[in-house]
Amino acid sequence: MTRPTAFFFDELCLWHTTGQHALTLPVGGWVQPPSGAGHAESPETKRRFKNLMDVSGLSRRLALRGAPPATEEDLRRVHDPRYLERFKAASDAGGGEIGDTAPFGAGSYEIAKMSAGLALAAVDAVLAGEYANAYALSRPPGHHCLADRAMGFCLLANIPIAIEAAKAKYGIERVAVVDWDVHHGNGTQSIYYERPDVFTISLHQDGCFPPGYSGFPDRGAGAGLGANLNVPLQPGGGHAEYLYAMQRIVVPALERFRPELIVVASGFDANAVDPLARMQAHSETFRAMTTAMMEVADRHCGGRLVIVHEGGYAESYVPFCGHAVVEQLSGIRTGVEDPMLDFIRVQQPSEVFHAFQRGLIDDMARALDL
Ligand SMILES: [Zn+2]
Repeated sequence: MTRPTAFFFDELCLWHTTGQHALTLPVGGWVQPPSGAGHAESPETKRRFKNLMDVSGLSRRLALRGAPPATEEDLRRVHDPRYLERFKAASDAGGGEIGDTAPFGAGSYEIAKMSAGLALAAVDAVLAGEYANAYALSRPPGHHCLADRAMGFCLLANIPIAIEAAKAKYGIERVAVVDWDVHHGNGTQSIYYERPDVFTISLHQDGCFPPGYSGFPDRGAGAGLGANLNVPLQPGGGHAEYLYAMQRIVVPALERFRPELIVVASGFDANAVDPLARMQAHSETFRAMTTAMMEVADRHCGGRLVIVHEGGYAESYVPFCGHAVVEQLSGIRTGVEDPMLDFIRVQQPSEVFHAFQRGLIDDMARALDL
């Protein structure tokens, strides 16, 4: 029997609260308290994704797994202990804000450890050969978090915590992180900036978040020079632009690096109806990018591929993007059809836009000798 895809989930992750906000604006002054979910990084995007998998029958055909929270030792491989102390103290005291745009509530320290624990367990199980591949529905997300500072809704660096645990346990050498969240994966970049063994690639909307943006020229430093790659895309880009960037840069760069494991930082906020970005991807874009990653993983790392959830703020639409990714990972097709696909497809950028973006991607590829 072929090994199934594992899906790592814990309801606790959905109990992390980001306090009272309207989208990303703290309530008060001119900002009216919201009527609904409030903060953009709400549990509903993730809960509805998992619920759609349950209703479609997809969950029942996967290995549904829980995981223990990441340990203090796991966290300290990546994070400054003083940051962890500060985060825990604030969490114990009822929550607050100890970084940039990363509010949290009571108990979020323990919940963030669970979020990291799901990513860690997913990587561990795939490296142990238990599953063909895995998806971790981690929340809070991780890719903006620095070693010593919370940022952009991210409180712990879930993927680096998972990678460092795997390195400690399995002695795995070369790992690639492909970040297709629409925002720049600055946290992962900064943690690995001087490391040659973890190749970090971020595909994102140019200059969207965070401020103090880091772009294509930032290729790593010291021993890590060349092991960091940013592929900024122009606002408005959609399916064709994403796939061109994947085929022209991301896939050949991965082929050259020859990873033993690929981890995807999978935000779904490049979709066309996300409130926090201006790209026009749809569920088939995420499905196709998953296929591309599976093909590289098959060629170089025995199929070892782990996808970890990051951003994505359109409650109605994230579930269809996530569902497509897990369908593709598992090779299982359900009856679910994306009800927004036609609406987004007719609004894709023109050939003029595409040619412009393609030229920029070609320039980047040439600079990389790809
Ligand atoms: Zn994002």
